[in-house]
Amino acid sequence: MKIAVVGCAGRMGRMLVHEIASTPGCVLAGGTEPPGSPFVGQDPAVLAGLDPSGLVISADARAVFEAADAVIDFTRPAATVAHAELAAATGTALIIGTTGLDKEQTAQIAAAAAGVPMVMAPNFSVGVNLLFALTELVASKLGIDYDIEIVEMHHRHKVDAPSGTALGIGRAAAKGRGVDLEDAQVLSREGITGPREAGTIGFATLRGGDVVGDHTAIFAADGERLELSHKASSRGVFSKGAVRSALWTKDRAPGLYTMADVLGVGG
Ligand code: NAD
Repeated sequence: MKIAVVGCAGRMGRMLVHEIASTPGCVLAGGTEPPGSPFVGQDPAVLAGLDPSGLVISADARAVFEAADAVIDFTRPAATVAHAELAAATGTALIIGTTGLDKEQTAQIAAAAAGVPMVMAPNFSVGVNLLFALTELVASKLGIDYDIEIVEMHHRHKVDAPSGTALGIGRAAAKGRGVDLEDAQVLSREGITGPREAGTIGFATLRGGDVVGDHTAIFAADGERLELSHKASSRGVFSKGAVRSALWTKDRAPGLYTMADVLGVGG
């Protein structure tokens, strides 16, 4: 399968180029960076620490989509919406790891996925997708006397908060409880907040250092506390999952899929 990486000079972009090069059945079809980026014209493989590929990073996303069977996108929300439209226009499968998309952007992507297979996941690791499934199960078994709090920590460069994964855990908890996350979520707290409102799902965000991604779902009642935790120590888990998803789209019907569909873990 010919796979291209948009935003291939980014932290995840470089890992993805590496993963494509080392996965049997895949070949790197190209990479992009935005017009004006100093990386345009450089070899994406060399940037990823590999031998030269003969490819150059392009600012022409359409040409790169046309040359690929699937494109992997870990960039920024506005760029991802434009890429989803290009995927639909060129009949190319799209794997989306970008987080921080708002409702309207998500709806635009879902509309574009009517014509091509797309996999969108806030987190492409196997462990986190099991954490989603476990959180939903635990939330469905425990009543609202168990307060749900979700704590996450990421490296100092992360630009969105709470993380897409933390929100994914929140959605899983809300689903287990039979409520909408938007009605239950408390995304941050400060000042005189008053006592905790029963049934809410709280979030706390930590940022610092080079933390790849730590997430904990806490179920706290009077007398006991259950915690489900996942810690990523290498971005390799995300690029592995994204390349596996790209391969999974081959001969797949159009539609917007999740990593749970790829792994068959429910959720
Ligand atoms: P980064 O800033 O290192 O990389 C983003 C890259 O995208 C940059 O090189 C930037 O130049 C490029 N870019 C921006 N707009 C572009 C455009 N229009 N065309 C082409 N390239 C463009 O960020 P990162 O740490 O690699 O993370 C990227 C995204 O992936 C973030 O939203 C992050 O939260 C998300 N992420 C998701 C997962 C997951 O498993 N789903 C894991 C890690 C990171």
